[in-house]
Amino acid sequence: MTFNPKADIGGGKTSRRGRNAGIAVGGGLGVLAIVLLGSFLGVDLSGLIGGGGGAPAAEDSSLEECRTGQDANERIDCRMKGAAASLDAYWAEASPSIGLDYVQPQGFVLFDQAVSTGCGNASSATGPFYCPPDQTIYIDTSFYDQLEQRFGAEGGPLAEMYVVAHEWGHHIQNIAGVLDSTRDGETGPTSNAVRVELQADCFAGAWAGAAATTEDPNGNTFLQPITPDEYRQAIDAAAAVGDDRIQEATQGQVTPHTFSHGTSEQRVRWFAAGYDEGVGSCNTFQVSGDQL
Ligand SMILES: [Zn+2]
Repeated sequence: MTFNPKADIGGGKTSRRGRNAGIAVGGGLGVLAIVLLGSFLGVDLSGLIGGGGGAPAAEDSSLEECRTGQDANERIDCRMKGAAASLDAYWAEASPSIGLDYVQPQGFVLFDQAVSTGCGNASSATGPFYCPPDQTIYIDTSFYDQLEQRFGAEGGPLAEMYVVAHEWGHHIQNIAGVLDSTRDGETGPTSNAVRVELQADCFAGAWAGAAATTEDPNGNTFLQPITPDEYRQAIDAAAAVGDDRIQEATQGQVTPHTFSHGTSEQRVRWFAAGYDEGVGSCNTFQVSGDQL
């Protein structure tokens, strides 16, 4: 059990778009968007650009069945919706401490195989991503199978929610102006790209650290206290998507000058920093390269 069974997860903007679902593509597909589209894993970006969306698909109504923490404990889509509700509540509370006026993401979309977004068309191969132009987070939950099978992570509910929390962190960076102010197209171990990603991991940790005390509108906590096992699984997921680990697996060698997300060790360390010390510790742009 991860969610408090009584927690109210009914609100929020979580929606679902099926295969071939389309929305009007607005805004340009900028360099930033391309970088961030692969922002979680930095893998295959093929299948992204081009093509408009098809006709808008009817929204699946089954997410409306996700009302309580109990539902979130039983169903992956409800768990995603519950994570979004928890993240919204957390950031509404935590944002003032970093001088930020919190604004919810415009959308949180669960998709199946392919989706048309404000950043162009995306497929499941893209991995979870945040699209700045439409301020929306996109996740195909089949990614969690990949995370286990392809990247060797152990999985588990908190590991899944870490992924959502990381992308939510990019939204925070977007409304804080961090994405705009640090965009330079560089990669490498101390690049802004890596600092952006490690900060998003730290933000995810900060949410996780406060998740068991973050409350729904009725005063029920969203999550139960995180168990050592769950924490370990979240850490394990962060490690699984480190640049070094992925490069070792996909190209047989590690090339630090192409790092865009940070090493396994860094991703784990910054998640842990946020978890232990809160959002104020997520100063990845202030520390020197050897402290990153
Ligand atoms: Zn990212």
